[in-house]
Amino acid sequence: MTDKMPSVAYFCMEYGLDTSFKIYAGGLGILAGDYLKGAKDTGYPIVGIGIKWKQGYTDQLIDEEGRPFDSYKNYHYDFLKDTGVTVKVKIRQRDVYCKVWLVDEFGNAPLYLLDTDIPQNEDRWICGQLYGWFGEERIAQEMVLGIAGVRALRSLGIKTDVYHFNEGHAVFAAFELIREKMQEGLSFEEAVRKTREEVVFTTHTPIKEGNESHYIDRLMYMGANNGLTVEQLVKLGGAPFNMTVAALRLSRISNAVAQLHCETSNKMWQDIKDRSEIIGITNAIHLPTWVDSRMLDAAEGKGDLWETHMDNKRKLIEFVKERTSIELDENALLIGFSRRAAPYKRSDLIFTDTNIIEPLLKERKIQIVFSGKAHPLDDTGKKIVENIVKIGKKYPQSVVFLENYDMTIGKMLTRGSDIWLNNPRRPKEASGTSGMKAAMNGVLNLSTLDGWWPEACRHGENGWQFGDGFVSPNEAEHDAHDVKALYKVLLEEVLPTYYDNRKKWKEMMKNSITSTRKYFAVERMLQEYYEKMYIK
Ligand SMILES: *Cc1c(COP(=O)(O)O)cnc(C)c1O
Repeated sequence: MTDKMPSVAYFCMEYGLDTSFKIYAGGLGILAGDYLKGAKDTGYPIVGIGIKWKQGYTDQLIDEEGRPFDSYKNYHYDFLKDTGVTVKVKIRQRDVYCKVWLVDEFGNAPLYLLDTDIPQNEDRWICGQLYGWFGEERIAQEMVLGIAGVRALRSLGIKTDVYHFNEGHAVFAAFELIREKMQEGLSFEEAVRKTREEVVFTTHTPIKEGNESHYIDRLMYMGANNGLTVEQLVKLGGAPFNMTVAALRLSRISNAVAQLHCETSNKMWQDIKDRSEIIGITNAIHLPTWVDSRMLDAAEGKGDLWETHMDNKRKLIEFVKERTSIELDENALLIGFSRRAAPYKRSDLIFTDTNIIEPLLKERKIQIVFSGKAHPLDDTGKKIVENIVKIGKKYPQSVVFLENYDMTIGKMLTRGSDIWLNNPRRPKEASGTSGMKAAMNGVLNLSTLDGWWPEACRHGENGWQFGDGFVSPNEAEHDAHDVKALYKVLLEEVLPTYYDNRKKWKEMMKNSITSTRKYFAVERMLQEYYEKMYIK
C-alpha cells in the first residue's frame, strides 16, 4: 500500500529525536521528532530536512543568585552518516556550501541535515545556534533550510510529491520550487500555482507577533528572494514579509495543531487573501518514546497501575535528589509543570494567593517540580524563571526548579508526577503535547481548556479542567478568574481525591490512559496528514 502513497519531504528547523542530540529547542522539535519516528514505524515514504546545529539551543543553568544564564558548547556526533552530497546556496552574494548528513539512529525515518560548518565556507557559523540570532543570521539559516534543503533532495535523488513546511521557517523552499519552474519557462504566476499544488503547511503559534517577519530590503540583500522581484515578494508575504502569511499563500492546504487552535488561526488570518484553507489536525506523540508501556498494560488490567506509577514517582524523586539534593516525599501529591518561560503560560499562577497556597506548601500537602527555559534573548522570560527559582528558595521542601529543561526532564516529569498542571491564558496554547505524555502515563491533567485538552477532557473522570473556557481581553481579569477556578478545583476535587479517595484516583488514572492512548498517538496524526493533506 505504501508505495502508492505520496512521498513527503518534511522541513523543520529543529528535531527532538533524543536528549543527547541537541538540535531541538521545544515543542516544535518534539513534534517533528515524534513525526519522523511514527513515519518509520508505519513505513510511510517520508524524509525529514533539517539543520545540523553546531551548538544547538542554549544550555540554560541557574547562577548563584538564582538567575538563568546561557551556556554553549560545540557538539560532535559520531552517528552522523556522510551522504557524500554537498549543495550550494548564495547568501549575501557569497557561495555557502552545505554538507548533507543522514541521521537514522533513533528509530526515525531518514533525516537529512544541512551543515555549513565545513572548511570551504567563510560563513561556517550560519548553522551555529538554533534560534540564537535574529535578523540576517536567521534569514541565512532559513535559506539553508529551505533553498539548500530542496537542492539536497535533488542531489540525493529523492523523489518528492509533497513538501511539508512545519512552521513558516521553511518557506524559502517554495521560492526554490518556484525558481526551478520559472527556469523551465513558466511565468511567475504559473510557477506559484504549480508550487502551491506541491506544498502543505503546518501553522503553530496563535500569537501574531510570534509569526516571524523580515524587511523586504533585507531579504533582497541576503538573496533570500532567490530571483523573485520585490513586487513578487510583497505579493506573497506582504511588507514586511511575513513567513506565515507567505506559507499560507504558497500551500494548497494548511493545518493548525488542535481543533481550538484551528478556530483561533482561522480568525487570526481571516483578512489574508488567497490563502490556503486551515484545517485542524491535532498533534500527537510517539508512545514508545514517552510512555511507560507498563502503565499502558496496567490500564488494561495487566499489572498494578498504582505500584507502577509509584515506581515512576520514586524514580523522579531520586532524579530530583541527584540534581538538587532536595528530597521530596513520595506520599505527598506531586505536581509537575514544565513549559517554556513565556508570560501567557503563567508559570506562577498557582502562587497568586499566598494565604491559600502557603499553608499547603508548608504542610507539604502539595509539592511542585518546575522546569523550563527562557529564550536566551528574552529578558521577560528570564524574569519568570528567576521568580520561580526564588519561590523555590522560599519553600525548599516543596517547590523545586530543575534547570536546563530537556527531553530527559520532560520524560521524568510526565511519568513520575501525580498531576500535570497547565494554565496558559486561553486560547494561546497551540497544542501542548506534554499533557498527552502525562495523560498516557496515568499522570492526571489539571489544565485550562486550551490546546489539545478540550478534545480529551472529561472533567472528574480522566483529569480536570478549570476556568470553564473563560476568555477576557483584560489580562488581570482573566488571571483573577482562572486562579480562583484553579484553587476551587484543587481544594475541592484534586486534594480530596488524592488523599481520601485513592480508589477514584486510580480509576481516573486508568481512564486517562485508555481515553487518550489511541487518538493522541502519532499514527492517527500521520493518517490524518495523509488523508487530509498529502493525498490530493
Ligand atoms: C514534550 C516536550 C515539549 C512540548 O510540550 P508542551 O506541552 O508543548 O510544552 C517541549 N519540550 C520538551 C523537552 C518536551 O519533552
